Amino acid sequence: MNVRSKTLSDVTRPDANLHIQCSFHCANKSIVDVKRVDRWYRIHLWDAHMSRLGKHLRCSKCLGRPEHIKVTHQMPNGPRWGPQNDKIGS
Ligand SMILES: [Zn+2]
Repeated sequence: MNVRSKTLSDVTRPDANLHIQCSFHCANKSIVDVKRVDRWYRIHLWDAHMSRLGKHLRCSKCLGRPEHIKVTHQMPNGPRWGPQNDKIGS
């Protein structure tokens, strides 16, 4: 599925999550809850366009930006990708 022209809200479904993968060198990848990410982007008024999601996500391993983000139906798992904490307005 081509998600690059969509926003987070377009892909938010009860059974949808985000498969986020770091660079080839780091190889960190995980599934994150799309609803959680969607909420975060709304709170911060960030651009939730799928092709620009990586701007606000950081790898918990190497602190790099994600290389590939796609929609998956797999369940969320760890390690988490940023935003790294739930503090709002800090
Ligand atoms: Zn990484």
